[in-house]
Amino acid sequence: MSAAEQTEIIIIGGGIAGAGAAFEMSRTSKVVVLERESHCGYHTTGRSAASFTENYGNGIIRRIVLASRAFLTEPPSGFCDYPLLSKRGMITVARADQLELLREDLEAAQALVPSIVAMTPAEAIARVPVLRADYLAGAYIEPHSMDIDVNGLHQGYLRGARACGARIVTNAGVKAIGRQGGQWRAETPAGTFLAPMLVNAAGAWGDQIAVMAGVRPIGLQPKRRTAFNIPAPAGVDISDWPLVNDIGAEFYFKPDAGQLFVSPADATPSAPMDAYAEDIDVAIGAERLERATTIEVQRVSRSWAGLRTFVADGSPVVGPDDEVPDFIWLVGQGGYGIKTSPALSRVCASLIAGKGFPDDVARQGVSMDDLTPHRLRGVEPKARQVAS
Ligand SMILES: Cc1cc2nc3c(=O)[nH]c(=O)nc-3n(C[C@H](O)[C@H](O)[C@H](O)COP(=O)(O)OP(=O)(O)OC[C@H]3O[C@@H](n4cnc5c(N)ncnc54)[C@H](O)[C@@H]3O)c2cc1C
Repeated sequence: MSAAEQTEIIIIGGGIAGAGAAFEMSRTSKVVVLERESHCGYHTTGRSAASFTENYGNGIIRRIVLASRAFLTEPPSGFCDYPLLSKRGMITVARADQLELLREDLEAAQALVPSIVAMTPAEAIARVPVLRADYLAGAYIEPHSMDIDVNGLHQGYLRGARACGARIVTNAGVKAIGRQGGQWRAETPAGTFLAPMLVNAAGAWGDQIAVMAGVRPIGLQPKRRTAFNIPAPAGVDISDWPLVNDIGAEFYFKPDAGQLFVSPADATPSAPMDAYAEDIDVAIGAERLERATTIEVQRVSRSWAGLRTFVADGSPVVGPDDEVPDFIWLVGQGGYGIKTSPALSRVCASLIAGKGFPDDVARQGVSMDDLTPHRLRGVEPKARQVAS
């Protein structure tokens, strides 16, 4: 049997969360990322809508997104060859029976993102001509909503981490976690790893990792979301269309590499698994799209699903476990894990390094109390920070 590999931080999971954490932590520590699949990004990270909007998710999420924008707009030099964000815009639409909801939502949205403005149905149809005049009763637009180059961001994190000496080990599903000499010991088919600090960035499997490590789970609930591509309407250039989002979270669609990306915005509770699209959810998405637009769905070119994983209050969970402070949570990013990854990675790295909560994230109105796992257990934390 080969000797265990000694490192300073083990990160379990090579999705956007684990990759972002490795990028930040490898600047000051020796890091190993353990990923079960043959490539990082196979699960939720590779299945997203790639959208950067500041107007989606609860108030904590929206503030973390604001704290992430600077990194995505101007990543460190050499991070990637192309811009990570590109212009998209997002129109939120409402039927007559949803107008009250639209009004309330617009007020709250403008408080945080002042560039959001109401638009008439005619203005919305001018931007997206397939929207039905007899469906649309109201709309507003977030003009600075963007598309994210998810692969560019994910690979940039991994490349940057490797450049600082991190090891990214694939085909390394963690099968057992124990203690050895006061450290964590993680056993995988790719070898055994020892470190004083363990970061749980296992997405939908986060609670399973906790149980393996003898840590109390926090009630993570994966929820399946379906997406599919259909061809663009014949002869129509859709490349400049904004993302169109239903105010009641019944559907959304956007251009996607020459086709349309459509989602019924489903959120079906699921066990952690390799999620796939159910025919019924694709059919529901197609029916809702046809109701709101003049598009007739003739052919679905590709469908897939991913798990968005939440805790009870819908905010991410970042920081040391309140009972086992060398076990660090980085989970519960829900449907927002790509666009929040710059700020959440920094928060996690800063706490591990004993530097406290980053000032720029605090200035957006987010505190450690909003993210700490202890909030989910109704107990006082034994330790909010981990000394380096
Ligand atoms: C349809 C859809 C649309 C979305 N749209 C957006 C969007 O527009 N914008 C946005 O910001 N977010 C969006 N999201 C959410 C975003 O994709 C997720 O929040 C994010 O990808 C979560 O990243 P993660 O690294 O936590 O999880 P994952 O990418 O799932 O990574 C977790 C990794 O842990 C690994 N793992 C698990 N168990 C083990 C083990 N025992 N040993 C080793 N490795 C293990 C898994 O193999 C996996 O690779 C969307 C999600 C979906 C499904």
